[in-house]
Amino acid sequence: MQDLDKIVAEAAAAFDAVNDAAALEQAKARYLGKQGALTELLKGLGKLAPDARRDAGARINAAKDRIEAALAERRQALARTRLDARLAEESLDVTLPGRGLARGGLHPASRTLERIERLFRSIGFDVADGPEIETDFHNFTALNTPEDHPARSMHDTFYVKGDAVPPLLLRTHTSPIQIRYMQAHVARHKNSPTMPEIRIIAPGRVYRVDSDATHSPMFHQVEGLWIGEDVSFADLKGVLTDFLQKFYEDDTVRTRFRPSFFPFTEPSAEVDMTCVFCHGAGCRVCSQTGWLEVAGSGQVHPNVLRHCDVDPERYIGFAFGMGPDRMTMLRYGINDLRLFYEGDLRFLQQFI
Ligand SMILES: [Zn+2]
Repeated sequence: MQDLDKIVAEAAAAFDAVNDAAALEQAKARYLGKQGALTELLKGLGKLAPDARRDAGARINAAKDRIEAALAERRQALARTRLDARLAEESLDVTLPGRGLARGGLHPASRTLERIERLFRSIGFDVADGPEIETDFHNFTALNTPEDHPARSMHDTFYVKGDAVPPLLLRTHTSPIQIRYMQAHVARHKNSPTMPEIRIIAPGRVYRVDSDATHSPMFHQVEGLWIGEDVSFADLKGVLTDFLQKFYEDDTVRTRFRPSFFPFTEPSAEVDMTCVFCHGAGCRVCSQTGWLEVAGSGQVHPNVLRHCDVDPERYIGFAFGMGPDRMTMLRYGINDLRLFYEGDLRFLQQFI
């Protein structure tokens, strides 16, 4: 018989020499595989006499056990090394200083909207919401805007591609929210003898094909609606004046109504307020007039009420609309609307 001790020692040395699992399996094959050194010895046993065969077989098997033990030991050692390496790699250095959390803040447009909502809520107005992709009916027809009205032209309105006839569109104002609210309100109270008052504001994003220093294709609007059996222009003026004084934190603000035209109100009025910069004396911001145009308003057109199943003989409604983006510009003294939407943190961080 060959020197089994020598084969065992060689195998152990070969196992110790490798440093990864794949190489270890190759080394194992050289000793225990089909053509391995020990297997060859076992194959040769058949040529021996029975007694010698038993003796040699026992010794070869003992050697095989020792090689397998050496193999198992080396496998374990390699696994331990791998684990140690991984632990070292993934270690957490708790002595490193923290990175800190950057401080975020609301966009100035959002701050203005929140402020407007808070002020109107404090005098009993609800805040309504609606979809930004609208139907032609809710955006135009229900608002007494006939089909040949310029507001429907391709120059102003973003239409949505699709099969809808007439096509869906990006709402050009937040008035459709008022239509949806009125319809839901009427449906909710259709069995009541008297419809409760409607007092809402409708803030949100609106879209028009327009872009320059004071116009952005996406901008914000806040519209208000007040419907009851006994509401007047004087009530509307009181609410708007009070709101503007609170919004600009200036009790000296006065308002005036100028006759105007909107398809969805009759009569209609532009709302001016005394300039918050010069208090009416005249300055560059107000073009020396002492007044700033801040809202449109009017008595809701009977056709609009009829579209929502509100009886114009019994209920009277007032509506107003404001541009919160312009209000933000006036409040913070910003002269270019595009700055709001460029996402430049150097600009936006001033309002945090
Ligand atoms: Zn002024």
